[in-house]
Amino acid sequence: MPMSSELRNIPAVNELLQHPLLVELIQLHGPQVVTRHLRQHLDLLRNQLLADPEQPATTSDAIVIEVIERVGKGELPSLRPVINATGILLHTGLGRAPLATEACEAIQQIARGYASVEVDLESGKRSQRVTAVESLILRLVGGEAAAVVNNNAGATVLALAALAANREVIVSRGQLVEIGGSFRMPDVMAASGAIMREVGTTNKTHLEDYRRAINDQTGALVRVHTSNYRIEGFSQSVSLEQLVSLAGEHGLPVIDDIGSGALYDYAEFGIGDEPLAARSLEAGADIVLFSGDKLLGGPQCGILVGRADLIKTISSHPLMRALRVDKITLAALAATLRIYQDPAAVAERIPLLRLLSAPLAVLQERAETLAGQLEGLDGLEAAEPQLDSTFLGGGSVPTQKIETWSVAISPAGCSVDELASLLRKGNPAIMGRVHQDRLVLDMRSVFPEQDELLAGILRQILSTAG
Ligand SMILES: *Cc1c(COP(=O)(O)O)cnc(C)c1O
Repeated sequence: MPMSSELRNIPAVNELLQHPLLVELIQLHGPQVVTRHLRQHLDLLRNQLLADPEQPATTSDAIVIEVIERVGKGELPSLRPVINATGILLHTGLGRAPLATEACEAIQQIARGYASVEVDLESGKRSQRVTAVESLILRLVGGEAAAVVNNNAGATVLALAALAANREVIVSRGQLVEIGGSFRMPDVMAASGAIMREVGTTNKTHLEDYRRAINDQTGALVRVHTSNYRIEGFSQSVSLEQLVSLAGEHGLPVIDDIGSGALYDYAEFGIGDEPLAARSLEAGADIVLFSGDKLLGGPQCGILVGRADLIKTISSHPLMRALRVDKITLAALAATLRIYQDPAAVAERIPLLRLLSAPLAVLQERAETLAGQLEGLDGLEAAEPQLDSTFLGGGSVPTQKIETWSVAISPAGCSVDELASLLRKGNPAIMGRVHQDRLVLDMRSVFPEQDELLAGILRQILSTAG
């Protein structure tokens, strides 16, 4: 087939790479990246011409502009900062708890070089990884020993595998939780090699149900905090104290998965009934499990704390090696826990608590300011500040409702979904929630120092969307 003159007119790759704008682009991204995007675009042009030879000829400049746009989009990291205007403070999709400045500084210090991860600098001998955080954990919540793993799901699998593999683990039917889709208690138990022995019913479990289920195959009694739902009405569950006393009669351990890992009583912020690790240990739980990146406000990890002999068994299980945390997590966790040693500083220095404790009047003022900054833009039909409510967590703690202020945006000239999509594509991205055909931006989860940036990006997008 003879080559059409149009195809022949497409400039050669080498020639295009000499274009001053592409030379500049190569300095930023390197020749491989730019050449790859250029070739992809030229392929597209050739295919378009083959399909429709009547297409008007393109110019080198037009090609170069396309390539600059392609590289800009293609090289934007898919993991990038997000301004969280969803209102959900513990959003698993957005990485849960933001870290404290102290934790970020500790990561900087430890990450860029070598660190005493498993070396005791006093003696020069090999030490345990957990040493970096163990005494801090014990001081804050009690218990005799602790272990830290990749997350609380890992902590649960590990505790069950180490303490109850091939044995029966008794759990109430009212506590067989599913958290965020992939964590389902029955599946976690199966993966650990423990045999789940369900007792009671969905709404009512009595101490007698546990007592009757105990036999010589029993390995442990497990209590799971129903983090993301409540059973109300005609319901009954067994208290931890009762479980502990029953388990004690049979020499069995009680494993208490409290989920969020509150180290602090959140009642003053309207978060009433989250279990505290310290209270579980006081009530006699042998092992308490919780997440590092939920209410604790630290890095993703799972913390196990309790009886020294059991922690030793857990820490020497082969799965421990597969689930262990790295120096970055250890550094961030240690720095976060240190903040809790001064209870007066917690609300100010743990970012999650700073957001949670922001007074409604301040959120109202910020919402009104933001709405005012958008007024009159071509792409805006309305921006209304409104009293609103949100939840602490999406999948993790959605039962905890929080009051907030938000700005409800109705765009002119594009749909709400299109606006939401444009905001997600920026750097930083902005995420809100679409509700009743408006884009709702919730001030509860936006840091005050991000307000100007948020307004700036919105102004830019809303002045062109019309
Ligand atoms: C969140 C949660 C988990 C899972 O913790 P991750 O840290 O997300 O692995 C397990 N159990 C309960 C009760 C939870 O709330």
